[in-house]
Amino acid sequence: MSRSRKLQIGGIFVGFALGVIATLMLSQPSYLSEANAAGGKVPSPTAAAPERYVYYPGSEELRPDEMRVIACGTGMPAARHKQAAACFLVELGNGDKFFFDLGTGCMANVASLMIPYDFLDKVFISHLHTDHWGDLASLWAGGWTAGRTQPLKVWGPSGQTEEFGTKYAVEHFLKAYNWDYKSRMATLNNIPGQITATEFDYRGMNKVIYQENGVTIRSWPAIHIADGAVSFSLEWNELKFVFSGDTGPNKWFVEYAKDADLCVHESFFTPDQFVELYGRDPGATVNVTTVLHTSPQAFGKIMSEVKPRHAVAYHVFNDEETRYEVYEGIRQTYDGPLSLATDMMVWNVTKH
Ligand SMILES: [Zn+2]
Ligand SMILES: [Zn+2]
Repeated sequence: MSRSRKLQIGGIFVGFALGVIATLMLSQPSYLSEANAAGGKVPSPTAAAPERYVYYPGSEELRPDEMRVIACGTGMPAARHKQAAACFLVELGNGDKFFFDLGTGCMANVASLMIPYDFLDKVFISHLHTDHWGDLASLWAGGWTAGRTQPLKVWGPSGQTEEFGTKYAVEHFLKAYNWDYKSRMATLNNIPGQITATEFDYRGMNKVIYQENGVTIRSWPAIHIADGAVSFSLEWNELKFVFSGDTGPNKWFVEYAKDADLCVHESFFTPDQFVELYGRDPGATVNVTTVLHTSPQAFGKIMSEVKPRHAVAYHVFNDEETRYEVYEGIRQTYDGPLSLATDMMVWNVTKH
């Protein structure tokens, strides 16, 4: 047999084998019928994904003894897609839900949780900066059109005079939105368009401002630019959540936040970051970052005194460029459990 003949036979064989494979491929689907994903087997390309190890906020039932806190806003007044302004949603196993602040942009995060708006009717406002209540319009009108059946309830502090208080703010909010308010009333039930404002004395020292259904909420003054800002604690089922709002370091917080399970306190940019990122005058910056707000080092000092089960720092753009300096500042004075908050971070709090 010549050399060329052998090659020819070989060529015919290879051609035959490829033909068989091609025929088999034509008789099978062009994709795998099942495949492994990170969390398990997916039976087909059109099937639902299996249970995964990732967690989606709002997708888990709350246990009767559990407190769940979801950060719906953790950033700055100039809200952005990545971080809305201040908003912490506290959900309790007894069915109660409370907003602590409702800062600009936070309602997009809140809406993504798909919680019925009738369950989201209680809002506690630490102070009247827009980065702490700027999305009231969105909860008010959005919740109204999305099915809330009852008035919205807002609690907030008094001010130095009447026109700096929460009651004044809410009354004039409704006046500012008069066109919206009246036009919606023409087609919708007007009850959920109402807002009841409960104003409490901002000077109250660890004073009870809400007590219902086993839940106690207290307030005390915060130190923040103008009189009227407060911090809050919420106690339920022997669990304690504390929220600073905006404040410089102060002795009241250290005293009244004691025994906190979850202690949320602002931690601002360092003075150097504020000069660099915001182009601020270095002289004025020290006052803003260490007196009207709390520096990372002071945040750490506060947490070392309070000793919560878990500390949460918020009110900073948590970016690759900023977070390490903030973290290292806190770690100079605090070595306990810590989260640097980002939007949609979730804490499940139980005693065990
Ligand atoms: Zn503020
Ligand atoms: Zn703020």
